[in-house]
Amino acid sequence: MKQSTRNILLQAVSGLMIITLLIWQGKRPRLVELDSGYYQTMGTLARMLVVAPDKATAEQAVKAAVAVFDRIETLMSDYDPDSQISEVNRRAFAEPVAVDADVFDVLVAAVEYSRLSDGAFDITVGPVVQLWRTARNTAVAPTPEQIADAGAKVGWRHLILDPEHKTVRFALEGMALDLGGIAKGYAIDKAAEAIRQAGAVGGMVDIGGDLVCFGRSLGQNPHWLIGLQDPAADEKHLMRLALDDRAVATSGDYRRFTILNGQKYSHIVNPVTADAAADLSSVTIIAPTAMQADALATAVSVLGPEKGMALIETIDDVEAILIRSNTPNEYLTTSGAFRYIHNTPVTH
Ligand code: AMP
Ligand code: MG
Repeated sequence: MKQSTRNILLQAVSGLMIITLLIWQGKRPRLVELDSGYYQTMGTLARMLVVAPDKATAEQAVKAAVAVFDRIETLMSDYDPDSQISEVNRRAFAEPVAVDADVFDVLVAAVEYSRLSDGAFDITVGPVVQLWRTARNTAVAPTPEQIADAGAKVGWRHLILDPEHKTVRFALEGMALDLGGIAKGYAIDKAAEAIRQAGAVGGMVDIGGDLVCFGRSLGQNPHWLIGLQDPAADEKHLMRLALDDRAVATSGDYRRFTILNGQKYSHIVNPVTADAAADLSSVTIIAPTAMQADALATAVSVLGPEKGMALIETIDDVEAILIRSNTPNEYLTTSGAFRYIHNTPVTH
């Protein structure tokens, strides 16, 4: 081919490429990305990232999500004496107590996770959690008798749910519900749903480090990239996860624990022994929904590494990344977890 012909051809090809690029960019809708900043909810901080066709839609989506947080906190907080859960705890032994559909749905799901985890996850741990909370406030460890007394009031099989009337009843006196291991996950899923319904094409909802991401990610990233906190060091990320339409929840003793007589106690308790969970310092679950990830992270913290890993391996589409308390520099993963681990250097 003659030099001049080749030049003409090259110019034609590159011209065509530029035109194609211009058309493609012109057709690509311009999206806005909004960082909501932090909102206080459920005893921790929530943050949303929203990808939407325009600013007004993104702002509307954040507003809708915040309304969801407020509604769920009002229903499910056990710190608030006026919440529905507090009312259930006061009255449900005496009579069936009617609850909102949101609360009922969470209770039904919680019982399913109790069954699945053979009782490791149990929202009737209220009396034991209260005991450990008092211990934290007074800096005095509970006595074995106190632990046994509180433990005797625990048991998901004593929770009576009536789906027809959406009522809750306790079969044992002194029972108390604590939704701290599942409510955040539920709120995250509902907030993400509200963001999508408001017209967003992508988003991430984070409450206290548990999160879900969906749809279009930020910038040119093909996935949502999420830093996984190192349990041994604040502000340090252990690894990054690349996620699409997935939720992540982390449970562990690295953020919330009590030190009594020089020993560290987790805020997660074993419903059978009423003791604080000990073997795992961090349990991360990746799952399709935040409620699933939240409940399973709490369950695996109680089950410990062997039983916990075995349980997660049996559940489709769910993976785990665990760190044992006595080997903080190693992590254990389920067979499919590598799919989500992003191999770029971690920047802090
Ligand atoms: P998370 O941070 O999701 O693991 O939830 C921990 C919270 O769940 C605790 O602060 C308690 O309120 C509650 N909790 C503790 N132990 C259990 C358990 N075995 N099953 C269900 N919830 C629990
Ligand atoms: Mg949880």
